[in-house]
This record gives sequence, C-alpha cells and structure tokens, in this order.
Amino acid sequence: MGGTEQGYVAKAFESNFIAPLGPLLTEFEERFAEYLGDGVHCLGLSSGSAALHLALHMLDLEQGDEVWVSSMTFAGGCFPILYEGATPVFFDLARESWTVSPDLLEEALADAAKRGKLPKAIVPTDLYGMGCDLSRLEPLAAQYGVKLIVDAAESAGASVHGRKCGSGGDASILSFNGNKIITTSGGGMLVSRDQALIDRARFLSTQARDPAPHYEHSVYGFNYRLSNVCAGIGLGQFEVLDRRVEQRRAVFARYVEALSDLPGVSFMPEPNWSHGSRWLSAMRVDPAVGVVSREDIRLALLEYQIESRPLWKPMHMQPLFDGTRYVGEGFDELLFDQGLCLPSGSDMTAEEQGEVIERVRAVFGG
Ligand SMILES: *Cc1c(COP(=O)(O)O)cnc(C)c1O
Repeated sequence: MGGTEQGYVAKAFESNFIAPLGPLLTEFEERFAEYLGDGVHCLGLSSGSAALHLALHMLDLEQGDEVWVSSMTFAGGCFPILYEGATPVFFDLARESWTVSPDLLEEALADAAKRGKLPKAIVPTDLYGMGCDLSRLEPLAAQYGVKLIVDAAESAGASVHGRKCGSGGDASILSFNGNKIITTSGGGMLVSRDQALIDRARFLSTQARDPAPHYEHSVYGFNYRLSNVCAGIGLGQFEVLDRRVEQRRAVFARYVEALSDLPGVSFMPEPNWSHGSRWLSAMRVDPAVGVVSREDIRLALLEYQIESRPLWKPMHMQPLFDGTRYVGEGFDELLFDQGLCLPSGSDMTAEEQGEVIERVRAVFGG
C-alpha cells in the first residue's frame, strides 16, 4: 500500500456508499481515464477477467467463432473466450519483444481472409508489463475488420510508442488483482475510446436493468461492478502507480546488472518503442550455453525459501486446450522451458535482492 488508501476507504464509510457504485468509483474511473489519455473512458469492474468477459460478450460471439490470443498468458486472459462459447487460437511470441508476433498474425489474417474465416477478435497480451506492438496490431485489425481487445492486465503504468498501455485497441482491460502492479484487493477495468461501448458494458455489468421503476430485463447481464470501497483503495494506489513502475524497473535493472555476465543468462528484452512496467523480472537461462538450467536456479532459491516461478505455461500446452490450434514456432515453449520470474516486489529491499542475486550466482559457482 502507498499510505493514503485507508483515508479513501474511510470516506467510503463516511458517505455510506458500501456498494458497487459511489463517488469514489466514479473518481477512480475519471482519474484513470485522464491518466491514460487519448480520450478514453473507464469502467471499474470486479476483476480483469470480468472486464475481458464483458468485452467479448459484447461481440455477440457464436459457437465456432474464433478469438486469436497470445498463448503465453494467464488463464484469466483466455478463459472468458470459453465463457462465450468461442474457439481460441493461440499465437506465439516475437523473439524481439516477447509479446505476440505481429508477423504471425499478419500472415494468419491474410490466410484466414482467403478462406473466408476471419477471427471475431484478437486479444494480445502485454506480457509481464511489456506492451504489445500496437503500431502494427491496430492497423492490421482495422484492415481486416477484426476487433482488437488488448489485455493490459499486467501493464498498468507502462507505455508503447508514447501511449499509455491500457488505452489501445477497440478496448483494453486492466487488472487490479492483489498480485498486480497496483491493486484494489481484487478489481479490474474496461477501457475504450468508444463511449457507447463503455455505456453498454456498464449496463451489462449491473444486471442489465432496463429503465423502469421495477426490475425489467430484455437481455441478461452480470454482477461485475467494482465496489466503491475497493475503488477507494484504487484511488490511493493510483497515486503511487508511477512510483511502483520505477521501483519495478529498478529491481529489473539491478538483476540485469548483477547477473547478465553469467553463461546462458539473458533477460526479457525491451524494444526501443516500449517502456515496460517490469511487473515481473523475467530472465532466460539457456542450459546449452552454461551448464545451469532454470530448474537448477529455481530449486536452489527454494532451499532458502526464496520463491521464483517458471514463466506462464503457454495455453496450447495446457491439458485443457489439448488439440487447440496453435500458430507459431515454439518460441513460447522455449521460454516456458528456460524462463524464470525472479522475486520482483516493489517493496523488496536492496539487501533482500542482494541475497537473491548471491544465491543465483552461487548456482553458477559464485
Ligand atoms: C491477472 C491477469 C488477468 C486477469 O485479471 P484478474 O483481475 O485476476 O481477473 C488477465 N490477463 C492477464 C495477462 C493477467 O495477468
């Protein structure tokens, strides 16, 4: 926490808006929209997954419709495709950015157009706080008339080509889950320049109540709105967002400085058009170059109760998605095999990080 959150939460109690509506929620949305810029509107929701679900729901997907998505992502970034009965197609990452490959998408779109089977939407993921290449993805999606919903759950505070992550595409989603760069304990946001889209999402997120003195429904909706109390936490967290990004970037920079000389070790790249949040510090360990593997490091750290974790297991490798179409060359599989997320908390002290660094170096023999 940044320190001011409890003050905002107290305001929620004073005003008695202990509900999924209220002045703090409105203020949170307005401040975030101003921060993101580009004339966007924001809708506070109960989770990032809920935001993605709503965005997909509004596309009126039908059985057999395809949604193309980064394979290397978190479950919440693709499960909502299943909620809507659509079919995911998983895409590999580009080596130079570790975000979804625009080249693969371009090729697949041209091919799909020829076959008359374009996807209904593309959902690229801003991996570990590194924004995907919107300067390629937005024109591509527009050219083929495919909706672009950017999963910016991990990239609050980051930017690409000078634009804040979470403001692009036809819509973007953000997450304020407890483990994200800023949190409302649990929460999320749907963002779009399209006011009508946000208005529709607000209607659907509050049980689709038609205007009437009684409860009248012509379509079904969801209970997905963010609580005014949680929005209070969000307002406090919003004040420290830029600082959190700086802290995470500093953590990453220290790892790079202290570990890059080790054989086989490299780090998640940052293209020159990108300013990532470095939500997690992700490194790669090639055992063919050194003699050390990712697992050697992970297990050695674990002996000292230091938690690290492999990168996301690509969705096309998950038992749930056995047999699902995958477009790529297995770069994400390689990263899953060789990648490790190091302790990355913004509150990690230099001493604590020094210990992690020392333990990692020890695996290589000092
Ligand atoms: C966290 C996350 C989500 C889901 O957000 P929740 O708020 O946890 O529902 C979606 N996509 C990605 C890439 C995430 O990291």
